[in-house]
Amino acid sequence: IQKSGLLEMLEVRERLDDIGGLDQLKPWLQQKRQVLSDWPAARDFGVEPPKGVLIVGMPGCGKSLTAKATAALFGLPLLRMDLGSLMGKYVGDSEANMRRAIAVAEAVSPCVLWVDEVEKAFVGIGGGSAGSEVATRLFGYFLTWMQEKTRQVFVVATANDISALPPELLRKGRFDEIFFVDFPTESERQTIFKVHLDKRRKAGARIDVRQLAGKTNGYSGADIEAVVKEGIEQAFVDGRAELTTERLLKVIQATQPLSVVMKDKVE
Ligand code: ATP
Repeated sequence: IQKSGLLEMLEVRERLDDIGGLDQLKPWLQQKRQVLSDWPAARDFGVEPPKGVLIVGMPGCGKSLTAKATAALFGLPLLRMDLGSLMGKYVGDSEANMRRAIAVAEAVSPCVLWVDEVEKAFVGIGGGSAGSEVATRLFGYFLTWMQEKTRQVFVVATANDISALPPELLRKGRFDEIFFVDFPTESERQTIFKVHLDKRRKAGARIDVRQLAGKTNGYSGADIEAVVKEGIEQAFVDGRAELTTERLLKVIQATQPLSVVMKDKVE
């Protein structure tokens, strides 16, 4: 299953500490880790089997990062389900593909199953076309499996657009919890700058992350990472011994965060 086309086994190094912000989601995951790490005792105590989590929100704000960090936190293998390639060309293929993918995940269990861009797979369900009938059946199969699964397959589903998600997916009993991720606040941006600067030791310890956070309203975590990367590259090319706050401020001045680019597109 390294790369069967339906499922991909991913190596993960990300830790919860690599995520700046998401301060409700992180302790929630820690609690699930405790339950899963001592599952027989938890079950005997009356704890419900963890099903999974749905994370919805803006691109570049840490959804994929969280899926990876979850697997590392639980100490379990991470399988990513590629819903795009699951939709076969011929009616019937997609269902067989999904059955196979789920059977593989169950065989690998305990594991974390990351269902990325979950909204894309179930587009048009309930409509009349042949394609939407397949999507409707696939969706039904997935929901039933989510509700009845007994194996320890913890699902992390991620989506950008809540309005594109079928309401059935949001009903109680499907996922244990739904989290919304938004652009980071000023204090979260400070932490995200720190995470990415600390990762790159040459970056220099004297960076004023408070100033940087103050100038990056509307930047996603991915935008902030891009600023740090660009600053370091420029400092290297200019032959500087280390990165400075001033250089990062200049990079910020010269860049447009994703939220601005997206707003321009809509208008
Ligand atoms: P998409 O919907 O586009 O897939 P996403 O929400 O899944 O976006 P990620 O892939 O998790 O976003 O983010 C891209 C990169 O940006 C991450 O690998 C990480 O380096 C950085 N990043 C995003 N959010 C954060 C955060 N909260 N803390 C630290 N780094 C972050």
